[in-house]
Order: sequence, then structure tokens, then C-alpha cells
Amino acid sequence: MENTITGHTRLAALFATPIRHSVSPMIHNTAFQALGIDAVYLAFEVGTDGLEKAIDSIRNLDMLGANLSMPNKIAAVEYMDELSEAARLIGAVNTITNIDGALTGHNTDGTGFMRSLEDIDVDIIGKKITIIGAGGAATAIIVQAALDGVKEITVYNRKDEFYENIKEKLAYISENTKCSITLNDLADKDKLAKDVKESTLLLNATGVGMKPLENQTPIQDFSIIRPDLAVCDVIYTPQETEFLKQARLRGAKTNNGLGMLLYQGAAAFEKWTEKEMPIAIVKPIIENN
Ligand code: NAD
Repeated sequence: MENTITGHTRLAALFATPIRHSVSPMIHNTAFQALGIDAVYLAFEVGTDGLEKAIDSIRNLDMLGANLSMPNKIAAVEYMDELSEAARLIGAVNTITNIDGALTGHNTDGTGFMRSLEDIDVDIIGKKITIIGAGGAATAIIVQAALDGVKEITVYNRKDEFYENIKEKLAYISENTKCSITLNDLADKDKLAKDVKESTLLLNATGVGMKPLENQTPIQDFSIIRPDLAVCDVIYTPQETEFLKQARLRGAKTNNGLGMLLYQGAAAFEKWTEKEMPIAIVKPIIENN
């Protein structure tokens, strides 16, 4: 169906910088058109300086809502009228809904990842998982996994200047959910091997494997990978990192970050429109981008 702009057309937007590479406008506009929803999605170059005014425009222009990406996810928290439980625990917002001028901050990155596991038929509820990395993407996944009922998460990070802060943050998430979450030093190879052995899923949530660290892997000893372990990466460029390749060669079920990207968008779309995003139509846009 052709998209005809009318006097009733509603606006959804992405506020981030840099922004011009984003596939989100194509994803959402394709979905609006496919479902005949009178709305458009535009990307606006907005950094932290312009964020408060941009968020105010959601109310002033009666917009459907907005997505946020770098560098605005954390800064947006203070401008929200309400926060979802996940956004509060993560401390970051990637989706804003507007109900009669009341703005609620959500975070759909974690739900996006959890839904992506259905594509490889992997169930982690009530089980133990191991995650490498503890930055923004990892935190969103950790919080959602904990809220959804994952029993235990062992997180591995390099011992850098953020390590103690991360430890406190993970303790806070653990106290506020029913999930046991611990932070471990990525250099402790024996502990990592033991935790992976007890885990259903091993996830790379670092940027190791994409530019400028392509060809590098977050672990070096791939003997810890077994065929009944699910191995995932948040990275989607390249579509198969060296980490995923090595895991696949050892018989593990693997999945890259495209599903997370797709389903975080689908979750935002569903919050704005109360309609399911037509995944079959939208997925090829992401895969071929
Ligand atoms: P971030 O900067 O917040 O966190 C990066 C994490 O990686 C930290 O834990 C850091 O310690 C670790 N790290 C970085 N370099 C490392 C190295 N050389 N060795 C070991 N650990 C290292 O970044 P982020 O926003 O969490 O993004 C991480 C990755 O997730 C990026 O590749 C990003 O593209 C990807 N991502 C994917 C999606 C998706 O939808 N699939 C969404 C968000 C982010």
C-alpha cells in the first residue's frame, strides 16, 4: 500500500547521533505501510544537548513516540514521566511512548534479544547463562533475562576502571529480581570454563568481533563450546563473527544480533500501534542492509 501523508498522519522518530546509517526508518515505515497505519518514522540528528527539547516535541507535536540510540539512552531517563521496570533497572531508555502527553520510557533491547532466541528454538527460562561484556547491550539483556525468569547469570568482563561500578550495578539488578547475577574477571579462564559447562547459553555482548576488532574473539579457548550449548553474539556486522564461526564449527546452535535488532524494533512498534510488526516483510530489509 502506498504511504499517503494526510492531515492525520502521526510521527514517530529516532533521536540519535550519528544517525544517517540507521535502518530503523526503513523498518518502521515499511511496517506502517504494510499495515495501512497513517504514520511516518523519521530520523533526527539529536545529541545530548538537544535531547530535552527533542523529547518535549513528542508532547508538543502529539507524536506517537520515539526511539533513542547513542548517545541518548541514559540521558533520556531524567526526562521521562514514567519508566518501565526494565528501563528503571537498566538505567536507559530506547523507546518512548506518548499517552496524552505522558511519556513512558521503555527499553526493548532486552526483550528483542529474548525473542531472538525463539528463532533458534532455545529456552533459557529457569536456567543458567553466561554473558561476556557488561556494557549497555549486556545490561539490557541481563535485566530482561532476570525479569523473564532466568535463574542464574554469570557475567564476565575485563577488569577495567568500570569493573567495581558494574559489580554494584549487577548486585542491584540481582537484588531487585529473582536472578542470581555475579561479575567475574574475563581473565579467569578456569572459572569461565566451569560456568560455561553449567550454562545453556554463552553470549558475546562486547564489540569484539566487529570493526575495528574484526577477526578477534572474546574467548580464545573454544574447547569449552559443546554441541548442546547455544552461542549468540549481539554483533550483526559481520553477520557471522569469528566467535560464532568457531562455535558453529563445534556444533553449537548460533545466532547473531540481527534478531535482537529486529525484535527491539518490533517491540517499540507494538507499543506505539498496538499492532504486531509484520516480521516476514521487515526481516529481509535488515538481513540485506
Ligand atoms: P558498551 O561500550 O556499552 O560496552 C562494551 C562492552 O564490551 C564492555 O563490557 C567492555 O568492557 C567490553 N569490551 C570492549 N572491548 C573489549 C575487549 N577488547 N575485550 C574484552 N571486552 C571488551 O557497548 P554496547 O552498547 O554494550 O555495545 C556492545 C556491542 O553490542 C556492539 O558491538 C554493538 O554494536 C552491539 N549492539 C547490538 C545491538 C543489537 O540490536 N544487536 C544493540 C546494541 C548494541
